[in-house]
Amino acid sequence: MAYFTKQSALYTLLVRYKSIQEKTFLKVNIRHAPSKILFHTERESGTRGLPVVHHSKYVCDLPPDHRFPMGKFPRVLHFLIKDQVITDKQIWMPNLASEELLGCVHTKEYLDNFINGKIEEKEQRRTGFPWSEGLVRRCRYETGGTVLAVEIAWRRGLACSTAGGTHHAFPGYGAGFCLLNDLAVAAKHWTGTSTPRRKVLIVDLDVHQGDGTAFIFREDPDVFTFSVHCGNNFPVRKQQGDLDISMDVGVEDKEYLATVQTHLPGLLESFRPDLVLYDAGVDPHWRDELGKLRLTDQGLYQRDLYVIDAVVKRGIPVATVVGGGYSRDIDSLAIRHSIVHRAATQVWKQQGL
Ligand SMILES: [Zn+2]
Repeated sequence: MAYFTKQSALYTLLVRYKSIQEKTFLKVNIRHAPSKILFHTERESGTRGLPVVHHSKYVCDLPPDHRFPMGKFPRVLHFLIKDQVITDKQIWMPNLASEELLGCVHTKEYLDNFINGKIEEKEQRRTGFPWSEGLVRRCRYETGGTVLAVEIAWRRGLACSTAGGTHHAFPGYGAGFCLLNDLAVAAKHWTGTSTPRRKVLIVDLDVHQGDGTAFIFREDPDVFTFSVHCGNNFPVRKQQGDLDISMDVGVEDKEYLATVQTHLPGLLESFRPDLVLYDAGVDPHWRDELGKLRLTDQGLYQRDLYVIDAVVKRGIPVATVVGGGYSRDIDSLAIRHSIVHRAATQVWKQQGL
């Protein structure tokens, strides 16, 4: 089904068109040279390959049979090295995101409760995770990883984390396996500390709408949220992003790719971001346990290649996070998540970064 025939998508577009114009008007394009950047890293890479941000503490222990596939993060790195996509010299290690840094998005009360284990049972159920010190540490490293990926991308043009994309977290609470909104913290931190102003486009292609991110930036002229998601999926109550495209259940590669290709170039030309933060969720895949779309491995590769290439060839830096992906087969899932790093490596080589 052509997406133009979908009433919901068309309605969304009509409603949001005014907002795009307003934001485009407000967000004056300011190009400027990279400023001196303090890297949150313990080791700087000396090689010229694609920078990949990873930390062994991206994981924590969970109860047996927990449905979140925590083991995928180290396996993503494992397959990237095993398949010689990258070498270990390309790995950058992030620092733990400080409370002060997280405070640019999250409320003081929530951070105090989350970090110190004062999250009520009911709230823990909404997040999908039982609270633990390891969980806090994991989320803080993951957020630090996205912040670092943005900083490296700004200097080198492209960088990819092996985690991130926790877009359901709101300023005052977590939801849907997301405790801290790494995308929001990275975008807010990067835009908020600069003179002149910087603008970020968040391209969120996780199968679920990034409701937390959309809410956080609903009135921020410097951050534009673009989401392509399955309408009949979590979260039930969607937030209004700057451009939301709702896909029907069962959409396959061709229609999905055409949708992304229809909107992304126009956004890059009109909003003119200084940096793109790309959530390359693999849960639109046909084998995903929580997604309801039917993309193939090849479809995901084409999608990631298209997005990264479209941004990089316009001279705009791009930082990627892995986003959602759910399967009991951890290795298949990890390989699926590594598609974005493989696509980024191809763009890195082709564009001579
Ligand atoms: Zn998702």
